[in-house]
Amino acid sequence: MLQQTRVQTGIPKWHLFMDLFPTVGDLAAASEDDVMKAWEGLGYYRRARLLHQAAKAIDEAGDFPDTHSGWLALPGVGPYTSAAIASIGLNVPVAAVDGNVQRVLSRWAGMSEPVDAPEGAKEIQRLADALLDPEHPGDHNQAVMELGALLCSPRSPNCQACPLASDCSSAHQPEALERLPVKKKKKKATLWHLHWHIVTCGDQVVALQRPSTGIWPTMWVFPESPPDAMSALGELHEPVTHLLTHKRIEAQFTGHRAPTIQALESFAESVGGTAMSWEVLGQKARPRLMTKVFDELLSVLQRRE
Ligand code: SF4
Repeated sequence: MLQQTRVQTGIPKWHLFMDLFPTVGDLAAASEDDVMKAWEGLGYYRRARLLHQAAKAIDEAGDFPDTHSGWLALPGVGPYTSAAIASIGLNVPVAAVDGNVQRVLSRWAGMSEPVDAPEGAKEIQRLADALLDPEHPGDHNQAVMELGALLCSPRSPNCQACPLASDCSSAHQPEALERLPVKKKKKKATLWHLHWHIVTCGDQVVALQRPSTGIWPTMWVFPESPPDAMSALGELHEPVTHLLTHKRIEAQFTGHRAPTIQALESFAESVGGTAMSWEVLGQKARPRLMTKVFDELLSVLQRRE
């Protein structure tokens, strides 16, 4: 839940999740819609779906895995998570490599390979495994991660206080500390001009569920195609810029009033959507961009009644 998400955002979601799904069995038995709704606002919705699938796999197996490979085989559990659980929870001698560990080891060894490219990642894992204390793998992993978080920080490493300084190849060298760890060049964010058409009649509105792959999987959104021959209500909200990791979304919101419920339903059918009340749509899982403007769109529409 905290991957790529701020702790302040994650904490209330954690409590909500634990209230709704107190055991792995409860999470496994929940519908995907309920899981997505509980995850709403955290972004990276793929994580929610994989967590749900992992809960189902654990529930089916009857217990949590008790080996490193068993954890690694679960949906959504990668090398870092499986190694952290196996070493800290099961005392398995495997090195857990997160961003902190990458930074410490790449500086310590003076690595010029990008640590987030396949070759560099393998090299760091090899080095981390070779240095691991096999008797205390959990403590060792946590110590290196803490060293990265507290001493070998990205911007102001404290080599003075670091226990590795005597044989670290970057200690007290500003140029190396600035340059390492080497990372791959970031992809430029793509621009998406998104135009949502909010088509209503009374308290009903048209929404559709996105496919299970791609951006906002299985979440409910407004249609992007405009209806023909309906009274236009103009812009309902000023354009909104919404940033995702690799996308910059410029969103526009145009309103349309359907003359009858039948016209609304036939438009819904033509775009593969459904006509529903605003209240029902408010209970469905929606992307953050939609929840940000949802109440305002509704109140502007009500004022234009
Ligand atoms: S000596 Fe400095 S660069 Fe080397 S690991 Fe410690 S804090 Fe990082």
